[in-house]
Amino acid sequence: MTRFDELLHKGYWQSFEVEEVLFEEKNDLQHLVIFQSPSHGRVLALDNIVQVTEADNFFYHEMLAHLPIIAHGAVTEVLIIGGGDGGTLKEVLRHPGVQATLVEIDQAVVDLCVKYMPSVSAGAFDDPRCDLVIADGLKYVAETDKRFDIIIVDSTDPVGPGEVLFSESFYRDCKRCLKPGGLLATQNGVPFFQPEEVTTTYGRLNPIFEDVWFFQTPVPTYVGGMMTLAWATDDPSLRHQPVEDLVERFVASGITTRYYTPGIHWGSLHLPPYITDMMDQA
Ligand code: SAM
Repeated sequence: MTRFDELLHKGYWQSFEVEEVLFEEKNDLQHLVIFQSPSHGRVLALDNIVQVTEADNFFYHEMLAHLPIIAHGAVTEVLIIGGGDGGTLKEVLRHPGVQATLVEIDQAVVDLCVKYMPSVSAGAFDDPRCDLVIADGLKYVAETDKRFDIIIVDSTDPVGPGEVLFSESFYRDCKRCLKPGGLLATQNGVPFFQPEEVTTTYGRLNPIFEDVWFFQTPVPTYVGGMMTLAWATDDPSLRHQPVEDLVERFVASGITTRYYTPGIHWGSLHLPPYITDMMDQA
């Protein structure tokens, strides 16, 4: 393979030059490939959809981890569904005093990313505060008796094993697993190319939670403009905090970042009409 072509949308592709294929296999869950590219470093694709690159994963992992934790302000327990590359886990565990449970359906993703893309997880799976569970996230939230302040769904798109993580029953069980005042944040695609994901997710979450919204982040390899991440909580005040409070918490965390800032946090929750129009269609 000298080029990796990703079909992003009917009639629209992005391509990576492939210097070397480091690993490729199809297991009973999905096709996995990790390749070396001159532009993005090492790249993981699952079922031919780019999941994470060494070069730009910080945009996504910082926003998916820090925005909910800083918004909540008193997090001790985080559940990550998916996220087998360990990038979200790494960012979550940068917060002192936080325990993380990561539920990933495919052990191979964890093993391959630790072996071939170690910079993404940076040892997070070895952190004693990490509890790694290899299971279907749908089943886990239906059965666990643990409760969490934050649930982060860092899943593939709603195809293959990831499809169930966009279902109403999954969202209802996520709510069951949240402590009072908890917050759910989910990967929700690029609305320019996947408008139906905003409309569908909003329609499914709205009857279940008091406050359902989205926050945005650019992720260069998730082509098509801003990516939306879904937000759901029974505490509407979490979305309307003054940026000064966010600054105070972020400074107190002692964390340094490359994309997330309290100002970006505040701005990412202010959505443009092309996205709120998709919500209105739910
Ligand atoms: N950043 C990526 C994105 O935005 O699309 C997600 C990356 S992460 C590698 C996605 C992970 O979700 C994969 O490792 C995949 O195996 C996992 N996954 C898919 N369906 C799942 C399920 N039902 N339960 C748990 N993990 C699942």
